[in-house]
Amino acid sequence: MNKIPVTSPLLPPLEEFHPYLEKIWESKWLTNNGQFHQQLEQELCDYLGVKHVCLFSNGTLALITALQALRITGEVITTPFSFVATTHSLWWNNIKPVFVDIEPETFNLDPKKIEAAITPQTTAIMPVHVYGNPCNLEAIQQIAETYNLKVLYDAAHAFGVEKNRESILNFGDLSVLSFHATKVFNTFEGGAIICHDGKMKRHIDDLKNFGFRGETTVIAPGINAKMNEVQAAFGLLQLKYIDNALARRKEIAETYREKLSAIKGIRFLNDLPSIKHAYSYFPVLIDESEYGNSRDELYEHLKKQGIYARRYFYPLISNFPTYQGLPSAAPDNLPVANEVADKVICLPIYPDLEMSDVTRIVEILEDRNK
Ligand SMILES: *Cc1c(COP(=O)(O)O)cnc(C)c1O
Repeated sequence: MNKIPVTSPLLPPLEEFHPYLEKIWESKWLTNNGQFHQQLEQELCDYLGVKHVCLFSNGTLALITALQALRITGEVITTPFSFVATTHSLWWNNIKPVFVDIEPETFNLDPKKIEAAITPQTTAIMPVHVYGNPCNLEAIQQIAETYNLKVLYDAAHAFGVEKNRESILNFGDLSVLSFHATKVFNTFEGGAIICHDGKMKRHIDDLKNFGFRGETTVIAPGINAKMNEVQAAFGLLQLKYIDNALARRKEIAETYREKLSAIKGIRFLNDLPSIKHAYSYFPVLIDESEYGNSRDELYEHLKKQGIYARRYFYPLISNFPTYQGLPSAAPDNLPVANEVADKVICLPIYPDLEMSDVTRIVEILEDRNK
């Protein structure tokens, strides 16, 4: 029985990576804005359709630095339905997270509930494009303008996502990508901040390099969050394969949807109109009374069959010990998020996943339903 993980990294042929490594050995330039770093920033700008890309050693440091770059303090409105790094980045900046519930249709921060959570201490909104599905960009923009708040998008799942043929990374003050091994586009570890003007780009580039501007001037207490040349070179190679990888993911998502629609008690997200999706995850919601098994029973059963589906995102961030004492973390403030976290399970999706394995996974799901 072959084991099927929830995700598996996109790895181009190894021999195609050797020439990049040879160049690095020749130049002896290993990090600090090297040739591959510069080239990857440019190629990502072109590929994604954004003005400026600042590469980082990982997505979490990019989030922490983005909050510094925008000088965000006080309270920030955010979603509990995300990977824990979203809220941790606030904590590392001594910012108080204020949790607001999510929409039942997209699992993203619910704009209708944001205004009630704004206080005189609120300085920003930090939404997440969960599973790569775009947030309600216009409604969030409107609220930010009305209350003079910054918007920082955690776009870790949203590589290449477009709305009406425009990158959703162009919305908000800044957006942050993750290039972790488990993400659609990876540089082993890595990440980026997307920004819209050259002055901000320079500021972020200084912050990720200890605050140095030039050889002897330090403009701020920066950090070391630079991407190295091996990571950047891998990103350049990976970019050659990304369109194929995205096409494969789309095919798998469509196959799941077609086959799962006949099973009672399983709900999945459909593609949204005028959106180019990344298919970074394939979440389904299990309705226990209709399906006949709880989400956790299904999770355990799949595991026994060698299928490592994952309960992203469970537990909710607001239910972790660090955050559960916050007033906004109370479960009755977050009914939709708590319900989704209890029902959701992400099925395996990655470019190398065989269609026969997709069929096998669906058959197991069907079987439990009988
Ligand atoms: C992966 C992820 C991060 C963290 O990115 P790293 O590159 O692993 O540090 C942040 N937010 C979300 C929503 C993520 O999924």
